[in-house]
Amino acid sequence: MNVTDSLVTFASHNPKTGEVLKDFHTSDQSTVDRVVADARTATTAWQALGYEGRRKVLLNWCSVLTENLNEIGALISSETGKPVGDATLEASLAIGHLAWAAKNAGRVLKSHVRPSGILMFNMKSVVGRSPMGVVGVIGPWNYPIFTPMGSISYALAAGNTVVFKPSQFTPAVGEWLEHSFASIAPFPHIFSVVQGLGETGQFLTTSNVDKISFTGSTRTAKLVAATCAARMIPVVLECGGKDPVIIAGDADIDKAAEYVLWSAMSNAGQTCIGAERVYVVEEVADAFIEKITRLAKKLEPGKSYGPATMPSQLGVIQSHIDDAASKGAKFALGSTHSVGERYVEPVIMLDVPEDSLAITDETFGPTLTINRTATIEEAISLANATRYGLAASVWSKRTGHHIASQLQCGMVSINSVIAFAAIASVPFGGVKDSGYGRIHGPEGLMEFTYPRTVISPRFKFPIEFTTFARTKFADNFIKTLIKFLHSKVVG
Ligand code: NAD
Repeated sequence: MNVTDSLVTFASHNPKTGEVLKDFHTSDQSTVDRVVADARTATTAWQALGYEGRRKVLLNWCSVLTENLNEIGALISSETGKPVGDATLEASLAIGHLAWAAKNAGRVLKSHVRPSGILMFNMKSVVGRSPMGVVGVIGPWNYPIFTPMGSISYALAAGNTVVFKPSQFTPAVGEWLEHSFASIAPFPHIFSVVQGLGETGQFLTTSNVDKISFTGSTRTAKLVAATCAARMIPVVLECGGKDPVIIAGDADIDKAAEYVLWSAMSNAGQTCIGAERVYVVEEVADAFIEKITRLAKKLEPGKSYGPATMPSQLGVIQSHIDDAASKGAKFALGSTHSVGERYVEPVIMLDVPEDSLAITDETFGPTLTINRTATIEEAISLANATRYGLAASVWSKRTGHHIASQLQCGMVSINSVIAFAAIASVPFGGVKDSGYGRIHGPEGLMEFTYPRTVISPRFKFPIEFTTFARTKFADNFIKTLIKFLHSKVVG
């Protein structure tokens, strides 16, 4: 970080080379407060556009993003180091979510009438959804467009204005998003970006926003949640994972090995919903290990996946490998020397003790642990024995749904990996230390609204309850009715 002419700046780097890509001004507290205040001035007009008006604006944004897919793919690749193809896929999936949110917000969030019950049958009860106001979105670097757009798209479609703080490792992607929205915005301050390190994120959480949607590490999420609690504002927390894979005896081993390897090692293992731990039943363990190791040997760091985007993560990956090795883990592939200056060679560890860091903590590198279990019940129990609960993958031809129903996490893929993230109609989010709240799907739209109840008399009822003029007859009527409805003992 440099201090120039009283403006603090920070640089974005190319993680492949370490070269500086661009300097950015850090947004201080007063800047963040001003941007949030500006965003508030735009809320009335943005809400007044209604679902149809916002749909048009957001679908125009989809067109701009789609027309410039190559440009944004190249930019994501330059800041994260991931292959351009992966970056373009990421951007494509983000566009899919934006389109879904734009097209479905009106249907999902429309007001509806609820039954008022026998006692209040003369009342009309309507429940609608109101936008929160200004939503602050704080993003990570590993999927710098897909992940924040999971909040931004849904919050905007629901009628909120948004202030986005991208990761300090991917500020140019945030800036690009802001400019692309500005090119189609009907008026200013609907979607704005503030830049900086963690401190700027903290400024956003202490500013006058009405809700925070945070994606990042569990450690930071707890700080963000504490700040939001002090301000009494709600928060969505999308945090890390230690996602398990369960391989049953009837699994398609070839497919499982192929997909699990990609889930674990694409994006250099920097995927919150990527496979980190495999539990494979003994009867197919040798076949699975042999197959996945053979495939992993073909991976080429620098081609199959990029470098570690955040250099400090290399130390974490090294510590997990060292810890597992010191506790007796065996290496099917790689060793304690697999972590390079920027790139990590694929590492597959076997028989890793369950108290190893490689089993208990998020590694976020191209590493995988594979442990054998005597039964599927043992595999399920070990899969759940973690403080995280984001996603899981199950491989079985016949019992996938039965196994999935016993897993403590937000998303399960059966005979598949990760694909739920690309399905816009299903919710995304975790339990336990992986966070709370949901993005994507109807739940993701509702997350950025609050329910509002409106009741009104449909006709005059001769017996009045909500008045000091209530009669003895009314009291007796209630007692008789309640006894008639609820006095019967059931079972
Ligand atoms: P991080 O927690 O270091 O930072 C996330 C964001 O929070 C950054 O923009 C950072 O500047 C900001 N920040 C830091 N301190 C802050 C504070 N005190 N108050 C407010 N904001 C603050 O996480 P990261 O390294 O950028 O991202 C990687 C993590 O994100 C991994 O754990 C990964 O699993 C997780 N992740 C989760 C999901 C999901 O959807 N569950 C998706 C992608 C990444």
